[in-house]
Amino acid sequence: MHKVVVLGTGPAGLTAAIYLARANMNPLVIEGNEPGGQLTLTTEVENFPGFPDGIMGPELMQNMRKQAERFGATFRTGWVTNADLVRRPFSLTIDGTEEIQTETLVVSTGASAKLLGIPGEKENIGRGVSTCATCDGFFFRGKRVVIVGGGDSAMEEANFLTKFDTEVKVVHRRNELRASKIMQDRAHNNQKITWSLNSTPTEVIANEKGVTGLKVKDNDTGIEEIIETDGVFIAIGHRPNTAFLQGQLKTDETGYIMVTPGTTETNIPGVFACGDVQDHRYRQAITAAGTGCMAALDCEKYLEGNAVHNWGM
Ligand code: NAP
Repeated sequence: MHKVVVLGTGPAGLTAAIYLARANMNPLVIEGNEPGGQLTLTTEVENFPGFPDGIMGPELMQNMRKQAERFGATFRTGWVTNADLVRRPFSLTIDGTEEIQTETLVVSTGASAKLLGIPGEKENIGRGVSTCATCDGFFFRGKRVVIVGGGDSAMEEANFLTKFDTEVKVVHRRNELRASKIMQDRAHNNQKITWSLNSTPTEVIANEKGVTGLKVKDNDTGIEEIIETDGVFIAIGHRPNTAFLQGQLKTDETGYIMVTPGTTETNIPGVFACGDVQDHRYRQAITAAGTGCMAALDCEKYLEGNAVHNWGM
């Protein structure tokens, strides 16, 4: 039986693993089918403190993994298909066959950006298609970009991207935006943003150098046109990766795991959540890493028989 199992190898899971391993907890880290998490989908990371010249996303994740291994964390590849968090020890089924047991669990399975599912989209991620304006906006300085979506994220990212002297066009499938009024007003008042409403994206167009356009269809007339652009930012929401939990942990109405404020405790003692699986607000590598550290410390205290709420904080 394991003392602690960490699910997920993004910045949250790997930071938790580093701290747990250094505390002699011998964490087992389970790596799913997207090792390193969302950062491995980006190119250069320029806002992670400690790297004045930036660092490539995959390299940053490799470094974190090596650091966890150095202190004794063990890794195994597998997909958790089922979890039983009702009985103790907790049990996890991996790849539908193997069952492992653990006293505590750190859930850091992240969230995946939703994609449109249109031709040219997936294959051009990192070549002009992005799901993170905060991460990649800087690379489009002085260029033309399109943001797809009509929610708060799309409005926020559109505004953010105009800071880079970028021509920004919002493409949304309906005539009305979903975003809150304040976010809509902010975007409407920004003269650098243009709009293509009632438009459904149908294809990302690219050549050997990267993205050159987005094909959209007018929902009333059915007429297709190509919007020439250097970048396509998809901002149609995220989906926290919690399906394997089958409702055993308390989530909010959008599926994000709920934790006791200021901690990483879930509604089940001994199960901790960190990173994007419990955070739809910040979603940054550094904030994920921060909560990963918190989860490890919370877990350590729990195993010492000293639950977080007894810290006297
Ligand atoms: P969201 O509110 O779910 O909005 C997603 C948008 O993408 C919607 O406009 C939706 O269109 C569109 N969309 C979804 N699937 C699509 C598809 N297949 N093709 C084309 N368009 C599609 O997601 P979000 O904007 O990421 O926000 C998530 C949560 O975080 C919200 O609660 C939001 O308020 C919050 N948030 C808050 C802030 C802030 O306050 N600063 C910033 C960001 C996010 P429809 O409208 O037609 O459904």
